[in-house]
Amino acid sequence: MARYCDSVCRQCRREGMKLFLKGDRCYSERCAFERRQYPPGQHGQGRGKFSDYGLQLREKQKVKRMYGVLERQFRRYFRNADKGKGITGENLLFMLERRLDNATFRMGFANTRAEARQLVRHGHFAVNGHKVDLPSYQLKVGDVVEVREKSRKIVRIQEAIKTVARRGIPSWVEVDEKSWKGVVRALPLREELTIPIQEQLIVELYSK
Ligand code: SF4
Repeated sequence: MARYCDSVCRQCRREGMKLFLKGDRCYSERCAFERRQYPPGQHGQGRGKFSDYGLQLREKQKVKRMYGVLERQFRRYFRNADKGKGITGENLLFMLERRLDNATFRMGFANTRAEARQLVRHGHFAVNGHKVDLPSYQLKVGDVVEVREKSRKIVRIQEAIKTVARRGIPSWVEVDEKSWKGVVRALPLREELTIPIQEQLIVELYSK
C-alpha cells in the first residue's frame, strides 16, 4: 500500500494551516508551521494565487491528510456519501469521523490519528466486545469502543488519555476513562469539526 514517508509537518505548510498531525508538538513552539508559514520547497514562498481547480484540489488534499486516507479510499467515501441521503459534503465528513481510528483519537486513546491507526491495526481495541483491527471500520450509534485488557498498560495510550482535555472530546462520543471505554452517542456534528473545511469544494472537484 502506498504510504506518505516525508515529514508530516510539510503537509501543514502545504495546506497553509495547522492540521495537528503530531500530537503534543503541534501545541508547542516546535511546531514547524508556527516557524515557517509558507509552502515547503525551493519555490514555496513564490507561489501565487490558486485557480478554482487549485482551491478544490487543496481542500481535498487537506481533508485526506487530516484523516490519513489515500486517494482510492477517499473516492470510495465520496461515492458512498453521494449515494446517501442529505448533503454529500457533510456525509463525507461524517463517514471519515466515524472511522474507528478517528473515533479512538477523538475519544482520547491516541495522540494523533496516525497513532490511533497503528494502535487499531495492532489489535488494541475492541468494538462491542470483539477485537477489531481495521482502521476504516465504520462505527454506528451505540457502538462501544474499548481498550482491550492486555493493552491498558501501553504507555502511549495512558499518556494520550491524560492529555486529551487539551483538545476536548466531541459531544457525539462519551468516554469513561475508568473502564477504558468510549460510546458513540450520536452522529458527529458538523460544527464540532474545528479545523475549517469547505467540503463543498471537494464535492465540486469530484462532480466535474
Ligand atoms: Fe502541523 Fe503539528 Fe507539524 Fe505543527 S507540529 S506543522 S501542527 S503536524
